Amino acid sequence: MNTYVSHLEAAIDGTRLDADKIQTLHADRPLWVRYDLGAIGQAVTRDDLRDRPPTLWRYRELLPLPFDHEPVTLGEGMSPVLRAERLGQSLGVADLWIKDESQLPTGSFKSRGLCMAISMAKRFGVTRVAIPTAGNAGGAMAAYAARAGMEAYVFMPKDTPVINQLECALAGAKVFLVNGLINDCGGIVKRGKEPMSWFDCSTLKEPYRIEGKKTMGLELAEQFDWKLPDVIVYPTGGGTGLIGMWKAFHELRALGWLDSDKMPRMVSVQSDGCAPIARAFDADERFASPWENAATCASGLRVPGAVGDFMILDAARESGGCAIAVPEGQIKSTMERAVSSEGIAVCPEAAACVLGVERLVREARIKPDERVVIFNTGAANKYIEAFPLDLPVITDPASLDFATIAR
Ligand SMILES: *Cc1c(COP(=O)(O)O)cnc(C)c1O
Repeated sequence: MNTYVSHLEAAIDGTRLDADKIQTLHADRPLWVRYDLGAIGQAVTRDDLRDRPPTLWRYRELLPLPFDHEPVTLGEGMSPVLRAERLGQSLGVADLWIKDESQLPTGSFKSRGLCMAISMAKRFGVTRVAIPTAGNAGGAMAAYAARAGMEAYVFMPKDTPVINQLECALAGAKVFLVNGLINDCGGIVKRGKEPMSWFDCSTLKEPYRIEGKKTMGLELAEQFDWKLPDVIVYPTGGGTGLIGMWKAFHELRALGWLDSDKMPRMVSVQSDGCAPIARAFDADERFASPWENAATCASGLRVPGAVGDFMILDAARESGGCAIAVPEGQIKSTMERAVSSEGIAVCPEAAACVLGVERLVREARIKPDERVVIFNTGAANKYIEAFPLDLPVITDPASLDFATIAR
């Protein structure tokens, strides 16, 4: 058997589509990759995983790349899940964990999705890829495209963090700064697709990024010995990770690999500077209307409209979770507080999640003894523009008076 993928399925209406060729959207909405889970259950047990290399490719049966194709890989996956006791104490939760995705290739969890999208693009013979990006997705795509020997085009808002601009340029991508937001960049890729023969790596416009991001959920289950946490708090832009994890938990449950049928409550966190999902959740709507004038220092959350909005909202609701917005004005100070209390390079997006936990504990929607996992989706040090530093300078090192530097 070459793959356990049975077909692709339109998320909006369940239409079955052929998985043997390049597919994009159906009725302008994303696709699910479906597997023959019965056959996977016959072929592999959860204990078989134990001796496999610590990358996301250890879940190969649950991934779309056929077995006779080599992955395009930079060794991604198996990020640590770290206990955050001191931070948890200050938030009022005793069992707080941070899954630290900042340690992945290109410094963000985007490498999970893009290694899968690029591996599948290569399997279909693609040589030219393009992406609109708020930052990290472009960096990851550029790296994997370079790894695969493909030509890459990246379109990003002109105020995207400079580190993201640099990582794309260094990886040899053709990078363009766009006077607009990520949706304007998306419009360029959509219009250029035909004339430029691009494979469109936009969030959820090809079915495979979800499958890469899904591995966060598979890892979490394995790392917690097949007992899922009570609450997952996830910073949401396009929503791929939240959607992917929710899918992962269902696949694991269907395989009978989980010790309990109890699923985590999925909490989607956004900044109140760009919170289309939280607003739709509050209004009891299944689709989110675009956010005007999106502005947040958490660039990964600056997604005014997501094609998978209903998939995010469905997961939050089905799981008994929620979607909330936290104050933009508190994100930076919370980031400093989180990094300094745990030493984990928490990005602004994850700092928003810290604020989310704080609020849900205050409102008694998270109980003090529940196991809570926050996703640190990227590396703190990518956000240099957001933190203008004014550090003291020692002009004359030989005659430093130590009394002046004591705190
Ligand atoms: C892309 C990104 C997000 C949002 O992720 P989605 O899965 O698209 O919702 C959050 N944080 C960081 C650092 C990101 O790069």
